[in-house]
Amino acid sequence: MLILHCPNCGVDADETELAPGGEAHLTREGPGSSDEEFEQYLFLRENPRGVHFERWRHAMGCGKWFHAARCTTTMEVFGTYPAQTSEPPQEIRDRISDRRPGWRWRELS
Ligand SMILES: [Zn+2]
Repeated sequence: MLILHCPNCGVDADETELAPGGEAHLTREGPGSSDEEFEQYLFLRENPRGVHFERWRHAMGCGKWFHAARCTTTMEVFGTYPAQTSEPPQEIRDRISDRRPGWRWRELS
């Protein structure tokens, strides 16, 4: 069972308390963007086998959104952090690099 720590209220919530929100750190496209940029924003998502950054909502708890870094193959959770960040905190990136040698942060689309 997936258990994520909600950084908003401090509760360790299991997956029955959470609602998935898809990929984290998407660049929102708006007026003035090209058709290709808008298509990427609307339809194209990462689907990695390994480290992934996701949005979750503590639906049966505080109701707030947060981000989680986890491995899609092992379900290992590297950490959670507030949704109001444009990229993962350095401590979470360091934790991922320690556990997944060779992994490095990339510029997300
Ligand atoms: Zn919460």
